[in-house]
Amino acid sequence: MTLPPLVQSRQLGRWRIHAIQAGSQRLDGGAMFGVVPKPLWERRIAADDRNRIELGMRCLLVEHESGLVLIDTGAGNKENDKFHDIYGVENAGTQGDTALEDGLRALGVAPADIGLVIDTHLHFDHAGGNTRRDRDGKIVPTFPNARHVVQRGEYAYATHTNERTAGSYFAHNFVPIHEAGLFDLVEGEREIVAGIRVVPTPGHTPHHQSVLLDGGGERACYFADLVPTSAHLPLPWIMGYDVEPLVTLETKRRVLRQAVDERWLAVFEHDATVPWGMVKADGKGYGLEPVA
Ligand SMILES: [Zn+2]
Repeated sequence: MTLPPLVQSRQLGRWRIHAIQAGSQRLDGGAMFGVVPKPLWERRIAADDRNRIELGMRCLLVEHESGLVLIDTGAGNKENDKFHDIYGVENAGTQGDTALEDGLRALGVAPADIGLVIDTHLHFDHAGGNTRRDRDGKIVPTFPNARHVVQRGEYAYATHTNERTAGSYFAHNFVPIHEAGLFDLVEGEREIVAGIRVVPTPGHTPHHQSVLLDGGGERACYFADLVPTSAHLPLPWIMGYDVEPLVTLETKRRVLRQAVDERWLAVFEHDATVPWGMVKADGKGYGLEPVA
């Protein structure tokens, strides 16, 4: 069962934006909250009998004047039953191969219509949908007409793994994109199309990026794994999965300050229920101000 609703839409300045729930996953609650003790985190998100919490895998589609822009691509359709059991990934589509394709279809969009894909990083739950297994078992780009943007350092990191990082990077999610010549590897902060900017937000991985959207009069930030759920707004609530948690802390301190000052709409990729909200200063840290 994926998490309803499949699509939630709103206006951001001149653009229509759509949060597409590309599936759900269940991950160890302790790992999701790092050093935060269970009695604290379980008040925010309840754990199941295997100590796992339910998470979303929300992608963002922007109706940009230059074409359709998709941020992150979910987990794709290439993994086996063991993977789906361990990570509790449920993302099968009812019509297309995946829930992401179902969501796009509900919006009248076919994968071939996407002109730009932005990968925040190349972990399997963010970039798994970059490629798909076709009916002949061949792995092909899901979005054949899209340029795919990721940080050059992230691509290098994903293709040179170690014992700690290998479990999150599956070559079939990104090497075929590279081989097809569809990647634009960028370095540092960069405006990709008018009003859509990638910003390095290191910590979860050294070259993780978030996406800043300025639709004119309204701004949003797709934080990705810098702030995976609305429960991760307090500064020390940092995932145990992060490879450089103290770097995450400093990135959060800088970026959340800016989010409050500039009234950004925060988009939460892994939140099971809250697609977006405003960030508010809350004592020494930050909290959520709900929006419609
Ligand atoms: Zn993630």
